[in-house]
Amino acid sequence: MDQLKRVIEQKGKVLSDQVLKVDSFLNHQIDADLMMNMGKEFADHFKNSGITKVMTIESGGIAPALCTAMVLDVPLLFAKKAEPSTMKHPLTTSVHSFTKNKDYKLCVESELLNSSDVVLFIDDFLANGEAFKGICRLVDQAGARMAGAGICIEKAWQNGRQAVLEKGMDYLALASIASMSPETGIVWRE
Ligand code: 5GP
Repeated sequence: MDQLKRVIEQKGKVLSDQVLKVDSFLNHQIDADLMMNMGKEFADHFKNSGITKVMTIESGGIAPALCTAMVLDVPLLFAKKAEPSTMKHPLTTSVHSFTKNKDYKLCVESELLNSSDVVLFIDDFLANGEAFKGICRLVDQAGARMAGAGICIEKAWQNGRQAVLEKGMDYLALASIASMSPETGIVWRE
């Protein structure tokens, strides 16, 4: 998606050959026009997949996932990283955080995800696919079906891309990075 790639080139900061900082437009301050256009791209791609629910993880995935859910006219359910006392019957799993390099618990209220749901996973980044696999486990626990994954920024050399493709589901990355470094910048995977 050209608009996303141009914004990444102008405003993204390559912190290392593994980490891209996008806090001025994607996961801290949010470029609303870009979010809506990404939501339209995802929704257009997955519009015939029978999606009943969009899922993501708080907080980085919420903005693009919400825009996608708005266009598809389905609810967004985001997994929480801490279990609130108000959650009666949580589905839970443990996920390893790429950016924090530690495990955390993911939970969703079981009443909000049921066996008839067809789920689209949306997230800001795909690195090693741990977030994706965590959401897959929650969807499995609910007896629901994961129908597709939409990622804003894929780092194609990390393990996540393979993990998603191995599941055999429909997959769309809006911007795919082949490699990057603070010295040379970003090389796009075409
Ligand atoms: P994964 O679970 O695929 O290993 O990593 C994806 C998650 O880690 C995303 O939800 C995102 O929050 C975070 N993440 C992965 N790579 C990057 C990165 O290069 N920059 C930022 N800001 N977050 C990342």
